[in-house]
Amino acid sequence: MNFNSLKISDRLLKAITDLKFEKLTPIQEKAIPYLIDKNEDLIALAQTGTGKTAAFGIPIVHKIDCDKKYPQAIILSPTRELCLQISKDLIAYSKYFENINITAIYGGSNIQPQIKSIRSGTQIVVGTPGRVKDLINRKVLKLKTIEIVVLDEADEMLNMGFKEDLDAILSETPSNKQTLLFSATMPNEVMKLSKTYMHKFKTIEVASRNEGAKNVDHHYYMVNAKDRYNALRRICDINPKIYGIIFCRTRRDTKNVADKLMNDGYNADALHGDLSQSQRDHVMSKFRNRNIQLLVATDVAARGIDIDNLTHVINYNLPDENEVYVHRSGRTGRAGRKGISIIIAHSREGRKINAIEKMIKQKIFAKNVPTGKDICKIQLMHLIDNIINTEINTEIDQYIPEIENKFKKIKKNDLIKQLLSVEFNRLLSFYKNAKDLDTSKKEKKRKQINSEKTGVAEKGYSRFYINLGKETGIATHNLIGLINERTRNRNIPVGKIDIMKKFSFFEIPNEFKNEILSGFKNYKWHDKKVNVEISKVPKKQSSIKFADRKNKRRKKLGEKSSFKNRYKAFKK
Ligand code: ADP
Ligand code: MG
Repeated sequence: MNFNSLKISDRLLKAITDLKFEKLTPIQEKAIPYLIDKNEDLIALAQTGTGKTAAFGIPIVHKIDCDKKYPQAIILSPTRELCLQISKDLIAYSKYFENINITAIYGGSNIQPQIKSIRSGTQIVVGTPGRVKDLINRKVLKLKTIEIVVLDEADEMLNMGFKEDLDAILSETPSNKQTLLFSATMPNEVMKLSKTYMHKFKTIEVASRNEGAKNVDHHYYMVNAKDRYNALRRICDINPKIYGIIFCRTRRDTKNVADKLMNDGYNADALHGDLSQSQRDHVMSKFRNRNIQLLVATDVAARGIDIDNLTHVINYNLPDENEVYVHRSGRTGRAGRKGISIIIAHSREGRKINAIEKMIKQKIFAKNVPTGKDICKIQLMHLIDNIINTEINTEIDQYIPEIENKFKKIKKNDLIKQLLSVEFNRLLSFYKNAKDLDTSKKEKKRKQINSEKTGVAEKGYSRFYINLGKETGIATHNLIGLINERTRNRNIPVGKIDIMKKFSFFEIPNEFKNEILSGFKNYKWHDKKVNVEISKVPKKQSSIKFADRKNKRRKKLGEKSSFKNRYKAFKK
């Protein structure tokens, strides 16, 4: 559907043409004609990057009466970034309207200009809930004349704890207004909100939610939880031109990963809710200008940020909700370009990756973590390309005779090697003896034998005994679920799990030892009192067991009485 088939004024159409929009996106096709004709409520579900702003923005600009100098539409959005982006978009749609005023109001910046703008007779207000409520309380902003309310990214606003503010704001608006709720997901909280505030409404949903992600390839790397950061480094190193967002689950993770990357000499910075508004703006403008290659962010902080040419999205941790993965990966592969979405996973996340594959209807390809050698080669070629593409600085001309003199005795080949070494030595030595980070099957087997041999957990991990086993009906996934539930912490990486008949063992990083022990205190599972303790398999006993097994194996091979076989068995 083309924009010129819409019942809109020529000046609005002209502005849209200026933006080079040709066809309506699917959500726009469903929303815009409906909103232009009707004054009924609407719930629209579509992922990031599907053109939701224009879906409500164009009808709003169309419906505003520019002769009336009071607020007729208010758009609420979760962050200042989004708020600014929406008002910028609305200004673009209305650029051929003479008497239209659009005001963005958000926290963390001077309130006076915002007050002035509202008082000058604004018709459209775009705001974050906190500041909007503040301006209502100051009696500056009056919503009695509002005809349209938009809740943009409603799920995120509720996630961020704006429920009370939203209640307060909505209660100031007339009951016969039109309410539009835009959301990427429809959790219960959003459902409740719509039941409370919306009347007869239509729900539209863009059928294939991953439509924007057609240009995205999905990869995953399987590593030990403790190798996550090193794997991230390698992924960045093998992609010297990377321009991407690294998603972490918590603010703390975000900060840690960004700090480490910066320390290790990467062009990175963090974006999360603990930063002040001006810090956030600063980070964002550096990222937009590509002074930063890697933005480490939480989902909330990155929500709605609209940057078209990202090469990669990296999931440092997988999100709790699989749907969030869809939004993350939709950040890349935009505007006709190819993008790559990467998951750094640990071995217990295979099931989750399968579930995500089903959801996105695309395969997520397993990749090997790049080896030191792979990286060195790529980086070296990148360096050479940089050298070749660098414009010659004519200032150097004056020193040429002296330089030539110094280089006289060195052969061209050696000179090249020496020049490259200057830049390259650090990386080379870093990766010289770098180990393989892949948790391949072989590695797993080795560890299993190891821990059976000693009854001792992997380094950095504690091994726990629990009195639930196969016979009490527990399986690996129940046990992981139980651990998450008892500790109320889904970020605890569960290491090796051994389910036995009557009991089981599991390994958890040492730092969570107390959380586990206290989490399971006085706990009953299906009426059985659960007992969890640090495993104390006596070393002696288990090493005897191991020796036994070894003997048995020798015996077995010996029975075949071939020295060659025995030798082979030893080499294994
Ligand atoms: P969402 O709010 O769903 O995340 P946006 O409204 O921010 O998405 O739009 C994402 C991008 O798509 C923006 O750069 C916007 O200018 C562009 N866009 C929106 N509608 C169209 C269209 N009909 N044709 C081309 N580009 C569009
Ligand atoms: Mg949006």
